[in-house]
Amino acid sequence: MAYIRCPVRPYIPNPLRCFQCQRYGHSKNVCRGQPTCPRCGESGHDSVDCTKKEQCLNCKGDHPAYSRSCPTWITEKEITAVKIKEKISYPEARRVVLSRTPVSGKSYASATRKSTSDKSIQCDSITDTISDSSIPTKPVVLLPSKNNSPPRTKVIATPLSKSPPAKKK
Ligand SMILES: [Zn+2]
Ligand SMILES: [Zn+2]
Ligand SMILES: [Zn+2]
Repeated sequence: MAYIRCPVRPYIPNPLRCFQCQRYGHSKNVCRGQPTCPRCGESGHDSVDCTKKEQCLNCKGDHPAYSRSCPTWITEKEITAVKIKEKISYPEARRVVLSRTPVSGKSYASATRKSTSDKSIQCDSITDTISDSSIPTKPVVLLPSKNNSPPRTKVIATPLSKSPPAKKK
């Protein structure tokens, strides 16, 4: 518990996904990529016309690029959180997150549990997880109500501190 620090809770926006090339970390306005279908990851058609099998171009999973269960999306979410909390640039934050998330066949969830430094990220992620309710397998670290950093962003943090983590999936 001593490791959990949420001194401030800045608003962590969702990862920025380019609506043109579907990659993360830049916006359409500065995109130098191809217009790409978010459903199947191929260029040359719009997603409304798409009849192909869904394939995420970021992780090659069988979901569209905008899926909230995409591992890339979840990683990008972490990067965004680190970027804001540490006040560093996106490339730096990306390096931090990727360096502590082993990609060698380990699931994201098991990687998350390994280090305490991740917990500080999850503090912020919790509020987002509630509003999205679509990030799977995150171990939820709930602070006891006696913590000295009262949540100031969202009201839902208060009832949450009474519920056991098992309530959420
Ligand atoms: Zn782009
Ligand atoms: Zn398509
Ligand atoms: Zn994906």
